[in-house]
Amino acid sequence: MEQRKYLIDLIAEEEEPLKTLREKAAKEESYEPIVERDAAQLLKTLLLITKPKRILEIGTAIGYSAILMAKNTPEDTEIITIERYEKAADEAIENIFAAGYEKKIRVIKGEAADVINWLDPYFDFVFMDGAKGQYIEFLPRILELLRHGGVLVTDDVLYKDMTNDEKAAEVRHRKITIVQRLRKYLSVITNHTELETTVLQVGDGVAVSYRM
Ligand code: SAH
Repeated sequence: MEQRKYLIDLIAEEEEPLKTLREKAAKEESYEPIVERDAAQLLKTLLLITKPKRILEIGTAIGYSAILMAKNTPEDTEIITIERYEKAADEAIENIFAAGYEKKIRVIKGEAADVINWLDPYFDFVFMDGAKGQYIEFLPRILELLRHGGVLVTDDVLYKDMTNDEKAAEVRHRKITIVQRLRKYLSVITNHTELETTVLQVGDGVAVSYRM
C-alpha cells in the first residue's frame, strides 16, 4: 500500500461536525480545499501539546480548521480567523454557530494583509492556511504578533510537489510565481535566527516553526 494512504488510514475517523464539513467543502467547487486529513491530525496533536490561549488563523474557508482548533484547545482559548471571500466567511459563521463555538471563534471578514496590521499581539499559535503567495509578505507582521515560545504552522508549503521542482512548475507556468514565493518563504523560515522550523511531508507540506 502506498505509504501516505497507509498513514492516513491509521488516523481515527473524524468527529462530527468535522466529517460532514469536510464532505461539504469537497462538493462545493467555489471553495478552496480544506486542510488534509493528516495535516489536520498534526494540527490537532500540536494544539493538544501546546494548549494555546490565543490563536490566529489566516484562511477560514468554511470553518473546518477553526472548529477543529476549538475542539482541541482549552475552553477559554480565543481563536481569530481571517477570510476575505464573503460567501465562505458567511458559511463559516453559520457552521461555527451550529457547532456551538461562536463565543470561542471570531471570524474577521477581510484581506489578511490589512487585518493583521490592526490585530493586537500576542498570539500563542498561528495557523497560516491561505494566500500561499503572500506568506512571505505576512511573515514580518506575524512575527510581531506571535509571542516568543509560540508556534507558527504553515500549510501547503510543498504545493502539490511543485515547491521542490521549479521545472515542473514552469510547465504549469501560471504557478511559477507562487512556487518561487513559497521557496523564498521556506528559505527564510528555515534560516531565521528567531525560528526553529521543520518542514514535513504531511498533507500538502506543513512547516512547523517554534518562535524562539
Ligand atoms: N483553513 C481552512 C482552509 C482554508 S482555504 C480549513 O482547513 O478548513 C484558504 C482560504 O484562504 C480560502 O477560503 C481563501 O478565500 C482565503 N484567503 C486566501 N487569501 C486570503 C487573503 N489574502 N486574506 C484572507 N483570506 C484569504
